[in-house]
Amino acid sequence: MVGSMPAEPDQPATPAKRCPICGKPAVPEARPFCSERCRDVDLNRWLSGSYAIPCRPEEDDDND
Ligand SMILES: [Zn+2]
Repeated sequence: MVGSMPAEPDQPATPAKRCPICGKPAVPEARPFCSERCRDVDLNRWLSGSYAIPCRPEEDDDND
């Protein structure tokens, strides 16, 4: 017998993503989070922090 290599995929078709909040495997319902709760946490983070990035006034008085 020659060249009869078992073509078994080592990796799953859809690699389980990890919840960026707690690190648990994500679920399809709340991707990329593990639960809607974590999704909420992330959302809150956005709303309370990152979303409202304090625009730093460029105090670059470039007077020509
Ligand atoms: Zn999570």
